[in-house]
Amino acid sequence: MRTSRIITISIIALPLFAGTLAAGCGSDDSGDGGRGAGKVAVVATTMQLQDFARQVGGERVDVTGVLGPDDEPHEYEPTPANADAISGADVVVENGANLDEWLEDLLANAGGEATRVTASEGIDLLPTEEEGFPGDPHVWHDPDAAKKMVDNVAAGLGEADPDGRATYERNAKAYNRRIDEMARQIRSEFESVPATQRKLVTTHDAFGYFGRAYDVEVVGTVLPSVTTETETSGRQVRELIDTIEREGVKAIFTEQGVDPKLERQVAEEAGAEVETGLYADTLGPEGSGAEEFIDAELANAEAMAGAFSR
Ligand SMILES: [Zn+2]
Repeated sequence: MRTSRIITISIIALPLFAGTLAAGCGSDDSGDGGRGAGKVAVVATTMQLQDFARQVGGERVDVTGVLGPDDEPHEYEPTPANADAISGADVVVENGANLDEWLEDLLANAGGEATRVTASEGIDLLPTEEEGFPGDPHVWHDPDAAKKMVDNVAAGLGEADPDGRATYERNAKAYNRRIDEMARQIRSEFESVPATQRKLVTTHDAFGYFGRAYDVEVVGTVLPSVTTETETSGRQVRELIDTIEREGVKAIFTEQGVDPKLERQVAEEAGAEVETGLYADTLGPEGSGAEEFIDAELANAEAMAGAFSR
């Protein structure tokens, strides 16, 4: 008896459900912002933010990224496809602190009324002397700041999609626990490396927050700036080589998405090894195992700890 009743209900319920779905798709096509049965359309600039939006948004969101693994945010030139994505977005997520300032023009040109999330809002920035920067924009390398960014993303999604607010908050909490676990793993990775050996030289000054969080000293960068959109002088290169020799730095790291030509030259002159591919401003390409933020940070720590211990 019970079984047959359930079957009867299912048969009645099925066409109704199908009808609802069809109506949902119809309203989505009409360009009403993709709400209702459709997903929340999110555009996020950096790969870290794309990951945060996916982790927090889950099934409710459809995330389109602006930057890929080979794109340097400091030098990025937006494409017409980026403009299209932004004009159809419900939520636009940016890093802020002048990392992705080109978004301003994109938003102005694309129109639309997306909810704008500045993920670095409320985070104390490390100082920088670089003109045009309110502070060092590479905040995600500090695990506590990363958690704040995740919370900012959750708040923005909840504003654009109030029905999903509880889900976003729950997802953010769960993901932030994973960030805590990541930070514990990174600290234990460095535990066996004496603090005096934790000397980092990399392409540009992107690891200030990482260094502060995990007790790694950034002794120099090939490009003497928080941006890659800069040049270095012969004198600055000479000084860096002197520093590398004086501090006994064994390896120079290149960065994913940046041409490593200069790093190779500096390493050769200073008698240091070249280590490839820290994830400074981007995450890894498909198949790298570093497509997600947490895996990229763990890969960075592992590569550094290995090179420092040599
Ligand atoms: Zn950078």
